[in-house]
Amino acid sequence: MEGRTHVCLICGNAKSTHPDFVYHRFPKENQRCNLWKSIVSIPRITEMTVEKLRRNYQICSRHFSPKHYMTGHFKSKLMHDAYPDQNLQSTGMSA
Ligand SMILES: [Zn+2]
Repeated sequence: MEGRTHVCLICGNAKSTHPDFVYHRFPKENQRCNLWKSIVSIPRITEMTVEKLRRNYQICSRHFSPKHYMTGHFKSKLMHDAYPDQNLQSTGMSA
């Protein structure tokens, strides 16, 4: 079920089908990880530890606005305090 491939937690895009997106892991810091969790708001991840989230899920670059990137466009590094703020409705995995 939980592969090692890069799959976006929110929209389900995978690197194999959408290689044009960048896939970001959850932040290492608990505080920021919890922020991402609360923004994403997907019930099945609320109990997960930071380690498990980081191991199993990514969030693709569709969910970050350009201001969260170091150079102001995609395919670069996220800013230290970046968080997802775009296209946050998950695609029918839960109501
Ligand atoms: Zn996505």
